[in-house]
Amino acid sequence: MTSDIASRLHDVQTEITRAAHEAKRDPQTVTLVAVSKTFDADAIVPVLEAGQRVFGENRVQEATGKWPALVERYPGTTLHLIGPLQSNKAKEAVALFDVIHTVDRASLCTALAKEIDKQGRAPALLVQVNTGAEPQKAGVLPEQADAFVKECRDTYGLTISGLMCIPPFDEAPAPHFALLAKIAERNGLATLSMGMSADFATAIAFGATHVRVGSAIFGHRDKPA
Ligand SMILES: *Cc1c(COP(=O)(O)O)cnc(C)c1O
Repeated sequence: MTSDIASRLHDVQTEITRAAHEAKRDPQTVTLVAVSKTFDADAIVPVLEAGQRVFGENRVQEATGKWPALVERYPGTTLHLIGPLQSNKAKEAVALFDVIHTVDRASLCTALAKEIDKQGRAPALLVQVNTGAEPQKAGVLPEQADAFVKECRDTYGLTISGLMCIPPFDEAPAPHFALLAKIAERNGLATLSMGMSADFATAIAFGATHVRVGSAIFGHRDKPA
């Protein structure tokens, strides 16, 4: 089990390097975010032991429970929040996470700005874009993205580093990655969080700087995420 996880991590790293070279990009410009949601320390430790230091979680509560002890044990670990953030969890999120991928509404900006000011700690912030305009999915609509990024900066004083998307499950991801890259470029945003286990190589071809890979490393998730 333990060595399976380490060997799958190695396979993902190899595939990232291959996809980067194929896209004529430096593999160092692609950060692997190992998505450890639903997995406990027993599954995460082998990945840390193998040298991985960047992890993604989708729930503040779950991450607050399992990560502080691991971060202490493995210095240099950085944590990315990739799931929806409720404003009333902004305090915990700002305290724990280094990057928040899911900024998508004004009320959350207000809460984040307040906590960043209070705690003197500023996680990097990405705006989530609902590229497929799916009603059930979080994120700003593509046509609202430019105005929202501007609002984050001008109204809330937040520094936005980039954009994140989760393409519709049943569509080819490439057009969504291309759209996210285009919106980022015209807003002068350098970070592109896109690509998951099934499509991270495609995302790298479209300029992903952060790929969020869970099941390809940790295996199938029993618990619903
Ligand atoms: C769970 C999750 C991932 C990882 O998905 P896999 O298909 O397991 O790689 C990536 N991004 C987000 C936002 C997620 O919630």
